[in-house]
Amino acid sequence: MKHTFIEEIELGSKSAIFKINIIRYYINNGENTLADLGKEMDLSVPTVTKLVGELIDEGYVVDFGKQETNGGRRPNVYGVNPDSGYFLGVDIKRFRINIALINFKGDMVESKLSIPFYYENTQDSFDKLCVIINNFVDNVSVPKPKILSAGVNMSGRVNTETGHSYSLYFFNEKPLTEIFQERLGMHVTIDNDSRSMAYGEYINGVVNGEKDIIFVNVSWGLGLGIFIDGKLYYGKSGFAGEFGHLNAFDNEIICHCGKKGCLETQASGSFIHRRFLEKIAEGNTSILEERIKKGETIIQEDIIEAALKEDMLAIELVEEVGNTLGKHIAGLINLFNPELVIIGGVVALTGDFYFYLLEVL
Ligand SMILES: [Zn+2]
Repeated sequence: MKHTFIEEIELGSKSAIFKINIIRYYINNGENTLADLGKEMDLSVPTVTKLVGELIDEGYVVDFGKQETNGGRRPNVYGVNPDSGYFLGVDIKRFRINIALINFKGDMVESKLSIPFYYENTQDSFDKLCVIINNFVDNVSVPKPKILSAGVNMSGRVNTETGHSYSLYFFNEKPLTEIFQERLGMHVTIDNDSRSMAYGEYINGVVNGEKDIIFVNVSWGLGLGIFIDGKLYYGKSGFAGEFGHLNAFDNEIICHCGKKGCLETQASGSFIHRRFLEKIAEGNTSILEERIKKGETIIQEDIIEAALKEDMLAIELVEEVGNTLGKHIAGLINLFNPELVIIGGVVALTGDFYFYLLEVL
């Protein structure tokens, strides 16, 4: 019996790998002729003809007709059909969720950003997350069966291969991806958020040919996405890049990982958030003071926004984090000898932060 492309992927067949590479090639390079594709893929023309033919039969690839050339034989060009399949991207932040629907060509078709949410390791938080995702899927213009897969980015220790998350939503032995699949009714993959962000910069961001890259994600926590020789580095179990849990301080602050003195206890968005509220309680002034006194919940994004509006207390804390982090990033540079270091994440949205990092590096 002949398998569909999706079945081939699930079976891990060789032809599925070739087809994924063909699609990836079209996404990155646009349309092309079979002869050129064969050369790029290092496959014979009959082989690419067969593989592309099967992808056309299933609607993933389209024949765009004859290429415009100056005389001579004009071969047909082929490329991906943007509407043949869609992917859902879910980005879980501490107090917000971003969801986007991406077509087969990688273009964002619909999105809902900054959906209020509280990310904590409870069944209730997980249930709410599934409701939010299902609501989004129910309201998009694309029929659900056309959504081939959902990719969920989450913080902490994530094993992409087995589908287990060990830091958040870790309730039982079953892989989190399986639980997600049951609740969302579609194929689901998970990955660490810093790694996903690094990948995003590599594919479609500031990376310009560099192969050895350190992406520092300064958000609620502190994580790294590491590229070594053009490949994302996962480590043995997918836990590489837990920069925030480096033992850096002799403090008494218990980190969410259960240990004391982790780098992120004094160099992350959660530190800024915690210190900000403490400083307001100690009588310091800020443009957010009134809101806090009224009992409103202030999230890290509010403090970053305040820093951008030149709120002195917010700036002071962002600078403190920039200073601390700079010293440790200098350590990473010594360790990895990267071509490029990217500072990303919510906290990095402040210009001052960069300024202070530059000073210490
Ligand atoms: Zn820790």
